Parts: sequence; structure tokens; C-alpha cells
Amino acid sequence: MKDVAPSADAWRVPLSDVCVDAEVVQAASDVVASGWWSMGARVEEFEAEFARFCGVRHALAVSSGTAALHLALMATGCGPGDDVLVPSLNFVAAANTIVHVGAEPRFCDIRGGDDLNLDPASVEAAISAATKAIVVLHYGGFPCDMESILQIAAERGLIVIEDAAHAPGALWRGRACGTIGAVGCFSFFANKNLPTGEGGMVVTDDDELAARLRLLRSHGMTTLTWERHRGHAHSYDVTLPGFNYRLDELRAAVGSVYLRRLPELNRRRGEILDGYRSRLAGVSSIRMAFSDTPESNVSAHHLAVAVLSEAGLRDGVRTRLAEARIQTSVHYPPIHLFSAYRGSQQTRLPRTESVAPRLITLPLYPHMTNEQLELVAVTLLDALEERR
Ligand SMILES: *Cc1c(COP(=O)(O)O)cnc(C)c1O
Repeated sequence: MKDVAPSADAWRVPLSDVCVDAEVVQAASDVVASGWWSMGARVEEFEAEFARFCGVRHALAVSSGTAALHLALMATGCGPGDDVLVPSLNFVAAANTIVHVGAEPRFCDIRGGDDLNLDPASVEAAISAATKAIVVLHYGGFPCDMESILQIAAERGLIVIEDAAHAPGALWRGRACGTIGAVGCFSFFANKNLPTGEGGMVVTDDDELAARLRLLRSHGMTTLTWERHRGHAHSYDVTLPGFNYRLDELRAAVGSVYLRRLPELNRRRGEILDGYRSRLAGVSSIRMAFSDTPESNVSAHHLAVAVLSEAGLRDGVRTRLAEARIQTSVHYPPIHLFSAYRGSQQTRLPRTESVAPRLITLPLYPHMTNEQLELVAVTLLDALEERR
């Protein structure tokens, strides 16, 4: 079978790109041909493989990373009257799902321009009698300072939920990100390290939480269509009002192919990040974030995030790169400054507000070539008038 053409050919260097080859196409077409498309044996296989990969007891496949976060918050009992702490420098899904369970998001600050992860001191300062949980993010796949977070959570009796959307394969002191708190949430959106189109996974070592997550994922029903189809069950009860957040077989089959490749794909992402670091070393107007990550951690290298010295440089740089057909992005506009969340924040977040307007995300995907990397670096240095 012939390989399929790249999806983003409008750009010379897209921000991210899925790798479509004969094995991926075969995995998807096998499912289509099988005639069983909804949650079944392939989802179960994918869950078992993912659980083994992370070293966790339970992995439940869901329809998106957002669904994973929503289920994690519900299953841990976050609801009306509760505050949930979350970094403002994050994708908005974390805050939206906190609102959807009836709780209040309380936004926390980051450490700074090198370490874009949650600042434990800001977490401590935001805790009140209403605080129930902390949703931590492993930004860009770089593990957050879990030692401080776990210590604060233990002292104050808080639940830790990990938004590990950027971090499949990342390790904090040898432990898989997503398996350190009570529940971990992964996203398999098309631009993530393990893409299935839409999709996600929620993981936990807690048997009771896993049972609740499983019920909530599928309408609160005690059996699945798949189990009834196989004659393993004939009827069902509904024990709580749940959702339809299931993953389907097609996506699970694609996910299994990608999961086998993930260590190699993450390694290649790391190589490209090192390439950016060495091309930008010594340049005064820009610096790659997470340049001083502790050696004891392994990043999933999801994003190539650079921090400019001045916010005023960003628009010009992004325009110059776009003219060269190089796609860039910003991860993220801070959540507490969006219209829907403005006013919910009592305190300022000085480091988030200083760093966010200076962030620029550069192209990064495993099959990006060294020539593409060089083109991005040269165009970027030109735009900054730092070409040497
Ligand atoms: C992608 C992402 C999500 C949401 O995942 P979806 O699968 O798109 O719903 C949540 N948090 C972070 C940090 C993400 O990057």
C-alpha cells in the first residue's frame, strides 16, 4: 500500500503533523472490515497496553482529554462549593471541566520563563477551606515538581489530578507522569504525541475510583453493548447518571500502533528540541523554555516553546515565520484573562502575565527533518536580526 501524503502541505513546516503510513492505514481498515466499530476488544487491548506502558493498574479509554478531565473531577467528588486549583497557563479544558462539575477554578502562577510549570508557592497561597483538588499540568511534557505538590496535597488533604495531555511517556523520578496523583488524564487529539484524532485515557491505581470512572464513562450502565453482544451479560442497571465518553475501535487500533512507536517518537522529538537549543544558544533575544530540566526527569517533549526577551518582538517574528510558510502558535493565552474567566481571579499572576505575551511555540513533530529545523532556526534568527 502506498503511503498517504502529508496532511499539512500548505505549510513548508507545519506546527505539528501526524505520521500516516501503511501500518496505521492497515490498522484502521482492519477495524472497518471487521464490522465491530464501537468499544470492544481493540479498546480493551489498547487500555491494557497503555496501563502496562505507564505501570498503572487501571487505564480507561475515553473520547477526549477533556472527557478524561471531566470524569476525573467527577469521580474524585469535586462539585458545588469546592475550589479546584489549576495553572492559568494551560489549555482551557482544565478550567471548563472544573466549571462543568459545579466547582470554582482558582488559577495559580508558574515558576517563570524557564520552568513554565506550576509554582508550588502559588498553590499554597491559593488554598482556602473550600479547596478540594489541584489539577497539575506537565507543561510541554516536562514533569511538574510533584514532590512539592504531593507534600502540599498530603498536608492539606487535597486530591491531585494530573493533566498529562502533553506527557505520555514522561517520567518523574522513574514514575510515569499521570500515575503520580489520584488520577491522570491523557489526550490523543491529532496534534498530541500519541494521536488518534480525538481520544484520551484516564488512569488510576485506585480500584474504587476506576469503577466509578468506568460507570461515568458509559451512562452509569453496569454492562457494555460489547459484553451483551458476547453473551457475557443480558441486561444492565444504571447506578448513577453518566455520560457517553467512550472511545471506538478505530481510534483504539490507531492508538495501539502509535503507542508501540511512542518511545522512539518521543526520543526524536527530544533530538529536535536539542537542535533548537543549540541553534539558539547564546542568542540574547530568545531562549528555549525548560533548558535546565533536572536529569532525573524524562520529558515527553511535546512542545518546542521559546521565550522572547520582549513581548513586542512576538507579532513581527510570527509574521516573518508565517511568510516563510512556517507555522507557529502560542501555548497558551492565560485562562484567567479570557472573557469567560476574567473577574474570577482575585489575585494577579505576575509571572504568567509577564511570560505569556513572550511565548512562541515552534514546529515540532517526530518526522520533522534536520533541513526543516535549520530553516526554522535561520528564519527565526533573521527575524530577530540575530543571524550569525
Ligand atoms: C489537548 C489538551 C487537553 C484536551 O484534550 P482534548 O483531547 O483535545 O479534549 C487538555 N489539557 C491539555 C493541556 C491539552 O493540551
